[in-house]
Amino acid sequence: MRLINQNDRLKVVVDGFAVDVEKASDHRFAADPQAIFGRWNDFRAWVASIRLEGGEPIVDSELGPPVPRPSQIFAVGVNYRDHVEEAGFEEPTAPFVFTKFPASVTGPYSTIELPTATVDWEVEVVAVVGRRARHVQERDGWDYVAGLTVGQDLSERELQLSGPAPQQFNLGKSFAGFTPIGPALVTPDELKDPDDIAVHTVVSGHQMQKSRTRNLIFPIPRLISYLSHILPLLPGDLIFTGTPSGIGWALNPQRFITPADELVTWAEGIGEMRHRFVAAATTFGETG
Ligand code: ZN
Repeated sequence: MRLINQNDRLKVVVDGFAVDVEKASDHRFAADPQAIFGRWNDFRAWVASIRLEGGEPIVDSELGPPVPRPSQIFAVGVNYRDHVEEAGFEEPTAPFVFTKFPASVTGPYSTIELPTATVDWEVEVVAVVGRRARHVQERDGWDYVAGLTVGQDLSERELQLSGPAPQQFNLGKSFAGFTPIGPALVTPDELKDPDDIAVHTVVSGHQMQKSRTRNLIFPIPRLISYLSHILPLLPGDLIFTGTPSGIGWALNPQRFITPADELVTWAEGIGEMRHRFVAAATTFGETG
């Protein structure tokens, strides 16, 4: 099943068209795309029980984030070996986790403000939690995943890497619009192998990142297990699983996103996001 958020309404993609869930279910399920994760099993059973048809055309510019208001967003740093090397870190022995604050979420085709001239890209597969997870064993991890979507872990490198330890990862990765997700949420059964998904980033026509999620040091079930032993994971939470090598910060010379760039972020079987950028009216750091 593929779910999208079109004009702030939850829709199921059927034969390339968007079927409105609230209307098709005669108000049994609400239009709010965030609300569905609290009733995920009911919803899956309902979709399996009926024949959905009569959808409307999908218009890219009308698509919002498939998960618009997650309670928690976890993000995993240095989770691909080639990226550990370019970042100059030691290979982690446990997941290295930070947060992206939920107000930074945006959709798959929005225009994003650049607060500085040092904003970088990070393609990531994002797991969406489908039911409350607490003390989950790794072998059961996938049972708690509603589906996967594509994310960009946009990162303002100067703020991220500033200050005494611990560094400012949470803020540097949470400027408004720095957490785009989409274009769809795809359930694991739709994917050829949910543990081996190709991803890439293309910046203004140049492929900058390319890898597969089979290269993750800590795969999705391990992340679900690890995090759920610390605190409950809630329906609709997001887990950004980490980015492969090819970030702009590690290039020589370094290359960051400019207002002239188009950023394409893709994952196999899920789809691609395309983002444009504008310089913010006020550069961060110049006004305090
Ligand atoms: Zn990241």
